[in-house]
Amino acid sequence: MPQTIVHFNSPILRKKGAVITRFDEPLRQLAAAMVETMHGARGIGLAAQQIGEALQLCVVDLRATESDFDWELDGGHTPLDLFMPLVIANPSVTAVPEPTTVYEEGCLSFPKINGDVVRPDEIIVKFQDGHGTLHTLHCNGLLSRCIQHEADHLNGILFIDRMDKATLELLDPELKALKKLTREAAKK
Ligand code: ZN
Repeated sequence: MPQTIVHFNSPILRKKGAVITRFDEPLRQLAAAMVETMHGARGIGLAAQQIGEALQLCVVDLRATESDFDWELDGGHTPLDLFMPLVIANPSVTAVPEPTTVYEEGCLSFPKINGDVVRPDEIIVKFQDGHGTLHTLHCNGLLSRCIQHEADHLNGILFIDRMDKATLELLDPELKALKKLTREAAKK
């Protein structure tokens, strides 16, 4: 079942996710529902906080993008079709500080709002899949960026926190309008 996506400025988006300790059927069903929700919204990543659950859990699927990126999963160049949609539990991201790249990011919790965010290009992420198996993914480009964006969500950090002042000033009217909509929706 697709879930409702929570929008900025809902408090849940600022909650740090609880560590996943049970890798059972309900967890895998939750991850599957998140994948369905992400696909339905044409997104490339979705964090548990965005469907109202403060957990260290996110999903990513970049198969529909034409972006060029490189990766190594558990030491091999596993074809994307074999590991996406990717379920990421309890991620630990280590970024290679240089180089950084600028990219105009969007977020399903900020409909129609996009802004430039600077992030390291390359990361190594250690995580568990829906069965609790540990993996190491080394990647760059959009895959790295998407995972950094989602891992931030799991710690209550949003892409607006990573934008510079000038970008935020430009987006200010849209952010205020979205806050108002979210507030009104919460009253219903
Ligand atoms: Zn997001």
